Amino acid sequence: MKTIEETGIVPTMINAASQAKIDVHPLRRNISVLEGSGGNIAVLTGKDGKLLIDAGFTVSKPRIVPALDSLSPDPITQLINTHWHIDHTDGNAWLHAAGAAITAHENTKKHLATSTRVDGWSYTFPPAPAEALPTTTFRDAHRLHHNDTAFALQYYGPAHTDSDISVVFEEADVIHVGDTWWNGFYPFIDYSTGGSIDGMIRATKRNLSVVTDQTIIIPGHGPVGNKAGLSQYYDMLVSIRGNVSTLKSRGKSLEEAIAAKPTAAYDAKWGQFLMTPAIFTQLVYSGV
Ligand SMILES: [Zn+2]
Repeated sequence: MKTIEETGIVPTMINAASQAKIDVHPLRRNISVLEGSGGNIAVLTGKDGKLLIDAGFTVSKPRIVPALDSLSPDPITQLINTHWHIDHTDGNAWLHAAGAAITAHENTKKHLATSTRVDGWSYTFPPAPAEALPTTTFRDAHRLHHNDTAFALQYYGPAHTDSDISVVFEEADVIHVGDTWWNGFYPFIDYSTGGSIDGMIRATKRNLSVVTDQTIIIPGHGPVGNKAGLSQYYDMLVSIRGNVSTLKSRGKSLEEAIAAKPTAAYDAKWGQFLMTPAIFTQLVYSGV
């Protein structure tokens, strides 16, 4: 069997999504999460039609459609992208064809509209088709009303990419934080389009400042979580950043830093997914 490094992360993710079943998790009020196609997809049902946050991979459409149908017969009318990455936007075109207007940060549209290289994935994405592009974009903040729900969309500034936004369901006290949080896994950080470890730490600090112990937090990847889990993630990011920064400031090369295992205390809990301890050390090393 080929390793992830040999196959490539993008084909590995698409292959995983092509096999994965879609799990439906009801959260609160008329909000659910679909898990199993790239990033977590939040769904709000109701009389104005379904609103989705993130689109997953197109290969999952045959399993996403029945999962959506199981929630309600409402048509799909709105889609919000948390950022531009393929595992959150690949389904944009079919969802738009199904009736969804697409809202995103202006940099999501910018990256989707042109050929974009992600060095960390050794992959260059061609421009997305016109029907996959966001139809409404914003820079700092945006508000939306749908199904008697007020949505607050807020740009993080550069974090995991330069296009990340949070989406708050205000009445339900639910927030989708996109890929600023991978719950239970070291996160990918996309330096090619503006991400950095310090941006991730800043974004996580902001997430912690806007949630309470009652808030339901939808991460980009991993199970739905809460403030306690997000706090552990913050501590992990800060601690590993400190360890790697110390090694780099002592003149250690990347290879020496990886060999020193600056993530060792966290690997059992966080290092068991796409981002291995060595890859995550490299991502942090690039930014300190
Ligand atoms: Zn991402």
